[in-house]
Amino acid sequence: MRTVLDARVSSGYGSRSRNGIHSVLDIETALAAADAAAKLRDQTATGEKISGPAARRALAAAAMAPRFEGRIVPKTFAKKAATFLARDGVVLFDNPDAFLICAFKRDNALCEPDPGATAPRQYACRPGCGNTVRTDTHARQLRERADEIDKLAASAPGPVGRRLRVNADRLRETADSHDATAQTAETLT
Ligand code: SF4
Repeated sequence: MRTVLDARVSSGYGSRSRNGIHSVLDIETALAAADAAAKLRDQTATGEKISGPAARRALAAAAMAPRFEGRIVPKTFAKKAATFLARDGVVLFDNPDAFLICAFKRDNALCEPDPGATAPRQYACRPGCGNTVRTDTHARQLRERADEIDKLAASAPGPVGRRLRVNADRLRETADSHDATAQTAETLT
């Protein structure tokens, strides 16, 4: 929903006001970002390693991210949510489709967010972005996805099967790259 609105109303009413649907989206986005931070804290606390150009920044962001217990959202929270999201570089976005956490910093973003955007265009996530963070869990998920794609490739016609296998290999390479570079939270901080 946020993605659609950011893409379609960036020069209209929606971008000039944080009322209405944007307030709701800010709240949901802030809650989701807090969840992503909590998840990263939990994963690193259990010994998972992390990799990526934004790994150190993500750890610092996760450590200072707010906790929203109980999900009871008072009216005043919309403004707090917007302020929280405006802190460029310290808000974490889970991006399960790309098997990564996005530690969104506008100037680094390869997904070409609008000027002043407070969230990435996750559907346009690109490899090699300086905001990328991966955990051991992401590496495992990348390999699981690669195995699924290989199964599809086995019953696909020639050129389609080849493309699928290339895709699966690319996912495994990303997982291997994580394994080769990942470090513990203690080492990074
Ligand atoms: S390209 Fe991906 S990692 Fe980079 S800012 Fe956009 S969504 Fe985040």
